[in-house]
Amino acid sequence: MKCFICQGGNLFKFMDFGDQPPTDAFLRKDDLEKPEAFYPLALYFCENCSLVQIGHIVSPMLIFQDRDYVYTTSTNNSSKINFKNLVEKLVERFKLTSEDFAIDVGSNDGTLLSYYLPYGIKILGVDPSSATKFAIARNIPTVVDFFGEKIAADVLKKYGKAKVITATNVFAHVSELHSFVRGVADLLQDDGVFVSESGYLLDLIERLGYDAVYHEHLRFYSLKPLERLFNKFGLEIFDAERIPTHNGSIRVYAAKIGAYPKNKSVEELMALETKFGLYKKETFIHFAEDAKKHGVEFKTLLTDIKKAGKTIVGIGAPAKANTLLHFCKIDSKIIDCILEKSDLKIGLFTPETHIPILSEEILFKEQPDYAIMFSWNLADELIPKLKNSGYNGKFIIPFPKVKII
Ligand SMILES: [Zn+2]
Repeated sequence: MKCFICQGGNLFKFMDFGDQPPTDAFLRKDDLEKPEAFYPLALYFCENCSLVQIGHIVSPMLIFQDRDYVYTTSTNNSSKINFKNLVEKLVERFKLTSEDFAIDVGSNDGTLLSYYLPYGIKILGVDPSSATKFAIARNIPTVVDFFGEKIAADVLKKYGKAKVITATNVFAHVSELHSFVRGVADLLQDDGVFVSESGYLLDLIERLGYDAVYHEHLRFYSLKPLERLFNKFGLEIFDAERIPTHNGSIRVYAAKIGAYPKNKSVEELMALETKFGLYKKETFIHFAEDAKKHGVEFKTLLTDIKKAGKTIVGIGAPAKANTLLHFCKIDSKIIDCILEKSDLKIGLFTPETHIPILSEEILFKEQPDYAIMFSWNLADELIPKLKNSGYNGKFIIPFPKVKII
């Protein structure tokens, strides 16, 4: 096993989740009796370059292509707002015109790219998942494949170089990382910009959000190892900002070395990372200890509620819910069902724990006593809505501290 960035072998395992199915592998009713595939899941810290990564790569074909990929961007309102703001910002800051070409890697159903359309900017999506069928249906040009050097060469030949390449919530998922960054470097114009958004290690540690750990998330980035990665391919980070998406992410702007002046945000964030201990393994040992305590506390709370004869449902079935259920060993004996708005998931069951996913309507009709907010990052937005729609029970928010409101 080697580090994804520096290729060194000095990896320190600080947290082991045991074997777990891919967290997006929701099951149909007729799959329930069939054996499920489990894969090891553990977190490692590279003592050479400070990258945090998982140790076992599940074949990306298995995660993104061999089954219906149930996540579509357009079902997530806060993602839509984030993408719209990002595109508007890019157009303004880099003065994009109809002469420019923008690529989105991990383009999913084409939501992000659609915001370029009013400006007449040429667009192209690259994504291997079945969510691309929604993009193609609305005429957003899309290459259905994994981005890397080879696809970059094809795109270069057919469309030319790009002014902007975005990769939101995908840059930490790619297994062929060096091929990916080389592809980006090959495709960028001299003043081209690569913008990535990924879960930020600092937020993960600060919020104890270990439910973000699953097979699709191969790496949890901080700026220092990322800068090292970009430098290898003649790129550098010239700006970075923390954004609230997915429990705390980092938006990183990279370009050819010297193409843009370095914003002071880069140095400031690296100083914050040092101060926070992101380059020391002790930080991660403490994180694992705290996560263990949190898991016990959460499970005990739910068990006590159940013993008192009360009903518990889950709200929302994001991928991260499955890591939390797995880690705390919570199954359908404790949680009756998980309620969803998205038609793509209703009728399915959670992998491993086999909790049925039903329509959100049940929350208002049956008024269960407690509802767990699995999308806890959206709790402030969702709870008032659910109350207004008529739910009178209590909410359990699992992170950063277990809380009932
Ligand atoms: Zn490394």
